[in-house]
Amino acid sequence: MATGTQRQLFAQCSMCEYEWEDRDSFLYDNSLSLNGYQADLDNLENGWFLFTHITDECGSTIAVKAGLFFDLYGGTVYEEKKTGTKECPGYCLNESILRPCPSKCKCGFVREILTIIDDMKKNNQVEV
Ligand SMILES: [Zn+2]
Repeated sequence: MATGTQRQLFAQCSMCEYEWEDRDSFLYDNSLSLNGYQADLDNLENGWFLFTHITDECGSTIAVKAGLFFDLYGGTVYEEKKTGTKECPGYCLNESILRPCPSKCKCGFVREILTIIDDMKKNNQVEV
């Protein structure tokens, strides 16, 4: 390992120690699959996006702060939080549910990003 200036990494796999230097290389890596969202409803940017690192040697989960992906979304962000109201389907309380939320809730845009990331990965699949 080089000493001195520390390299800036976007993420590193805790199991196989694979490193992603920037977000694009992370998002377009087909060995990563988005499989969970652990919401922090008080501080949305502190939630976690959970990715599985699918390689022959690895099957570990990598958690990346949700806030690192917020700029991928360019749509409406609602003011009001609907969590716990009858408009809230409770998706954010279940980390394995990745579908978009139908309510006009402050927390909803993060779920839109889940779909954006999933689409980016799907569109990047190599056609055989
Ligand atoms: Zn790994």
